[in-house]
Amino acid sequence: MVRLFGMPYRKWSPRVQLQGNLVWDRLAEMTDLYGPRISGSEALEKSIDWVVHMAGKVDGLEVRTQEVNVTYFKRGAESLTLLSETRGAVPLTMIGLGMATPGNVTAQVVMAHSFEEFEAMDKETIKGKIVCINPPWSDYFGFARYRLLGAKVAADKGAVGFLIRSATPFSLNTVHTGSSVPAGIPAAAITPEHADMLDRMSRRTSLNSSSPFAHLFTAPVVRLEMASELFPRVSRNVIIDLPGADPDPKVAQEIVLVSGHIDSWDVGQGAVDDGAGSFVAWDVIRVLSQLEQRPRRTVRAVLYTNEENGLAGAYAYRQALDDKALQNHIFAIESDTGVFKPWGLSFQSASTDQRTIAKQTAYLTRMGEHVKRRMPDGYHGGHVTTGFTGADIEPLCQDGVPCAGWLSLDAIKKDEFGLNGYFYYHHTHADTVSALNATDIAASI
Ligand SMILES: [Zn+2]
Repeated sequence: MVRLFGMPYRKWSPRVQLQGNLVWDRLAEMTDLYGPRISGSEALEKSIDWVVHMAGKVDGLEVRTQEVNVTYFKRGAESLTLLSETRGAVPLTMIGLGMATPGNVTAQVVMAHSFEEFEAMDKETIKGKIVCINPPWSDYFGFARYRLLGAKVAADKGAVGFLIRSATPFSLNTVHTGSSVPAGIPAAAITPEHADMLDRMSRRTSLNSSSPFAHLFTAPVVRLEMASELFPRVSRNVIIDLPGADPDPKVAQEIVLVSGHIDSWDVGQGAVDDGAGSFVAWDVIRVLSQLEQRPRRTVRAVLYTNEENGLAGAYAYRQALDDKALQNHIFAIESDTGVFKPWGLSFQSASTDQRTIAKQTAYLTRMGEHVKRRMPDGYHGGHVTTGFTGADIEPLCQDGVPCAGWLSLDAIKKDEFGLNGYFYYHHTHADTVSALNATDIAASI
């Protein structure tokens, strides 16, 4: 059975008062000071120094960093221009995908309206063209997969450039970046509005092919320019321990891990993804350190680096553990879907035995009931479901550690469960502390 904090939940009774806005204030201060934190950047390393300094001020916490080799993606000048018969050169809103190959290409756009249509396109259709995929929003994972691999698929069929509709259910002409495997061709995300416009223009081309106005409806041609550089760099995971208080060292050295990732994309402030998740993990340790009855087991916050474009921090953490150290990890939690009004946990057992899973889930549900009773008015967290937990803790889950992902209610609809609202902000310039509510964050600790 998973025994959070090494004791039955009834005895777990924190008496400290949460300091309301501390996490939000810290996050605002750090992100205002240093900005977004792509891994390998000076901004991230300065932010990490800031966290280490601040975390070290609390008595009883052990703070250290773990070096991680990462690739630094340094964005350069980039643009997408529609070369219109009727309007001349029209700048379109775009953002280069991280790690994508730089380049400067001008070509006709070929549209695909679904991932299936894109996969089925033959070389003759794509060769020498810039492919643009414009599927309707369904779920994030479909978009993430084609954002990552689409340029490679397109390049293999002879495309000279790759565009993808931004991964979001809602847009005010917003672009969302993300990772793409280097494919030898430039690759960028464009706004849903501009993807739809290119789509309409393409359709008019075939509809008007025999019209006297066909010259107005030529297939869209764009110029895609991207300059970026990749550099090898050393970044760091931040590890903050509250050592276990059990007199038996075997118990005291067992670890309950809470986590988020400290790196972000190079846009906005990286406050929602995942400044908030990593700062909540850090603050959990601070709050627990002030309890009269300290946890018997070690509670560890890990603020991973390089989640966004490589997961090198996650793998470095896992690889540094020998079998004994791995077995000491009895539970791992990650928060990486924003911190809004709390909902609960998505649990992934290390066991395949249904009875064990049911027992563990029931235990967490009872814990959830306890948490629910302690929630401020208007908050109803403490739910438990099963499913995906977190990218950074995945190497631990795969090697037998029970895992959970922290989930909030929808960022926009507030009282409904869901992730759509989170994806309004995800990987955009709109990802700032203004998207976060201090009271919601305090209720999530
Ligand atoms: Zn994230």
